[in-house]
Amino acid sequence: PFWQRLLVVANRLPVSAVRRGEDSWSLDISAGGLVSALLGVKEFEARWIGWAGVNVPDEIGQKALTKALAEKRCIPVFLDEEIVHQYYNGYCNNILWPLFHYLGLPQEDRLATTRSFQSQFAAYKKANQMFADVVNAHYEEGDVVWCHDYHLMYLPECLKKYNTKMKVGWFLHTPFPSSEIHRTLPSRYELLRSVLAADLVGFHTYDYARHFVSACTRILGLEGTPEGVEDQGKLTRVAAFPIGIDSDRFIRALELPQVQEHIKELKERFSGRKVMLGVDRLDMIKGIPQKLLAFEKFLEENPYWRDKVVLLQIAVPTRTDDCSLDFHALCALYAVTDVALVTSLRDGMNLVSYEFVACQEAKKGVLILSEFAGAAQSLGAGAILVNPWNITEVAASIGQALNMPAEEREKRHCHNFHHVTEHTAQEWAETFVSELNDTVVEAQLRT
Ligand code: UDP
Repeated sequence: PFWQRLLVVANRLPVSAVRRGEDSWSLDISAGGLVSALLGVKEFEARWIGWAGVNVPDEIGQKALTKALAEKRCIPVFLDEEIVHQYYNGYCNNILWPLFHYLGLPQEDRLATTRSFQSQFAAYKKANQMFADVVNAHYEEGDVVWCHDYHLMYLPECLKKYNTKMKVGWFLHTPFPSSEIHRTLPSRYELLRSVLAADLVGFHTYDYARHFVSACTRILGLEGTPEGVEDQGKLTRVAAFPIGIDSDRFIRALELPQVQEHIKELKERFSGRKVMLGVDRLDMIKGIPQKLLAFEKFLEENPYWRDKVVLLQIAVPTRTDDCSLDFHALCALYAVTDVALVTSLRDGMNLVSYEFVACQEAKKGVLILSEFAGAAQSLGAGAILVNPWNITEVAASIGQALNMPAEEREKRHCHNFHHVTEHTAQEWAETFVSELNDTVVEAQLRT
């Protein structure tokens, strides 16, 4: 069979690496969404390029880690502490992340951020160039290079400078904001220009894709077409590719004896009460305070429910490797939940809502979902959609969900379950890569 090589470039490799000695490392593969998506794609032989999440200043350590990672098909990009501070903590997570989620910056940081903007952007470009160097060193003719997320917006241009024939796709896992927001970014031109160097640019929803195209027309003065963005006869294809999950992995996990045991324990612990669940990284975008206010209001207005419902909120410290719930514990929680509550103020997709649905075949619980999560576009018909800023509305939705007749719950669940099991992460990855191949063929036919 024909195997196409796929180079997946993302800021973080899907492993955590711990140094055991001068030349020894232990590695732990993290089975996140992207990993299981690509494991499921049989036509491609995927290799990963990214930062291993550790500072390795010495050559012996770098060599040993490179060797250990090679067995997992991973190729490291070594970033030093200063670059990580300026590129990753600074430009990516203090500037792009809040901006793309319409949050702006905390008031007291705003001027400081404005002052350090140029040096952080310089570090961002430098880091992206370091990723490009590693990709270029491993590239073979015919490979597909798939760049991921807001950390690597400068990468497509760097890659095409090395080799215009490289097939380059870029996918954004966050929202892309309205052009009015993107306009405020001092590096607004350079980022758009660089992304446009890719052959195919993908987003989770049609809205994000449209925002990107209008940013290109309004800020760069380029022509937007239904296919994408055109610049002097060259088309960059822009489209929506909503990600999914590996739903089978969740469904299978529920059958394991240890998960069944955990489910039983949880049921006993919460017997006589309805269980509501929130699972979020502890991030401003997740609307956790809004969620708590809405729950408080619901309890104030509905004293009957005070000892009959419990809200479990998992809040995982953000962008560190510790303290998160393991996969099986999470599955058990999803399975015993009556009402899941997702109140993101903005969220690229929100996979938690998909995972909850996948684990609800027995219970057929209700999903309350923020209309500002990408998932609202796909699970909207089965979920109760809410504006998380409207506490009254969210509180009323909690009541509606808790009192919902079984028949309606079943109907709503069926709709969502069908979507989640049909539109999987594997399908998402396959669609993106085959569209990228097609786009390149079509471009060759046009010239
Ligand atoms: N997750 C986890 N352990 C936890 C909490 C969350 O493994 O204790 C996982 C969860 O299963 C989901 C991911 O973290 O796959 C969160 O993805 P989502 O798209 O909902 O939000 P993000 O954190 O990417 O903004």
